[in-house]
Amino acid sequence: MKKKIWILCCTVLFIIIVLSIYISTDNFKLKNLNYSNKTIKLINEENITKKVLDKGYSKTLETALINDEFDYNNFDLYYNFRDIDNDDYIKKLNILSKLGYSVNDIKLILKKISFKDIDYITNNVYISNLKDYLSFNNFDITRLNRYINYKNLNSDLNMETIILNVNMDFDKTPYEDYNIVSNVDDIKVLVNKFNRLPDNYKPNDLSKIDKKYSSKELYLRKAACIEFNKMCSDALSLGLKIIAVSSYRDREYQENLYNNYSIERGQDMADNFSARPRFSEHETGLSIDIMGSNEDYNKFSSTDEYKWLEDNAYKYGFIIRYPKGKEDITKYMYEAWHIRYVGEDSAKYIYDNKITLEEFLALQDK
Ligand SMILES: [Zn+2]
Repeated sequence: MKKKIWILCCTVLFIIIVLSIYISTDNFKLKNLNYSNKTIKLINEENITKKVLDKGYSKTLETALINDEFDYNNFDLYYNFRDIDNDDYIKKLNILSKLGYSVNDIKLILKKISFKDIDYITNNVYISNLKDYLSFNNFDITRLNRYINYKNLNSDLNMETIILNVNMDFDKTPYEDYNIVSNVDDIKVLVNKFNRLPDNYKPNDLSKIDKKYSSKELYLRKAACIEFNKMCSDALSLGLKIIAVSSYRDREYQENLYNNYSIERGQDMADNFSARPRFSEHETGLSIDIMGSNEDYNKFSSTDEYKWLEDNAYKYGFIIRYPKGKEDITKYMYEAWHIRYVGEDSAKYIYDNKITLEEFLALQDK
């Protein structure tokens, strides 16, 4: 009997010893950290067991190992970003690190750039001032190469100007390298020498301007028309006579107008003050040429109506579209008589900051 008890005791002791040896093994500890058996095997193969035990669990590391994306040099990275379960994502992390970006750089990139857009960076060489670019809210990653090229050609310009100018397409050639406008019905639509209306575009909410405020039958898009009538009526109550002389034009009209100017004055001159067809704001139904009580729109800037309009048009959502001193930006000569509806909020911002529609849009968050 005594002997039996002794054997039992020995067996229990043996089991306890074996168990405690097992518990103290690294594999058991890894298992306890939540790594799968397959991952544990890979951890052992990569000889990173001690380091992993030190750092704990990382979903990112597990995903990297299982998908054969593990790169020993990026070990710490897998712990800085612990929760990634997508191997494409890890591929991008690996590339960013390989390109030379620090953990902090990568954190910034992931914070500012959407997953699909990271390719703009991974497909590039290391960009030492990427951090500076990313600090601007109006930085548009899809234009990254354009910013870089523009900066190379204009090394004297600061980053803010580089981003602003490229956002305004100043790295392109007017009329040659243009975009087709996609937000045609947006009241903030930009139509200029870099942005062309689609061939078939015609606004579908044209309304007739009150005949009291127009020299002939003229149309504007509804929102612009309502505000224009209101503005003219308020001006009239102050004894100021604002009259529209030209507003919505269809493509054919604009084409004839531009062609006639080109024949009369030559194309270079015509491009200064007249838009080529489909590049004209008048085709959006949001622009109006106006005259004052002197009934000469060319001399509009010397009228009381103009003085009033300068400080009041924004209250109705209008801006003076081609201001003096901004010819380099609008690419048009100063036109006191050409106003454009952009909506009240945008007009106020443009007025308060003394900027153009081009700058306003180029400053928007991307
Ligand atoms: Zn005009």
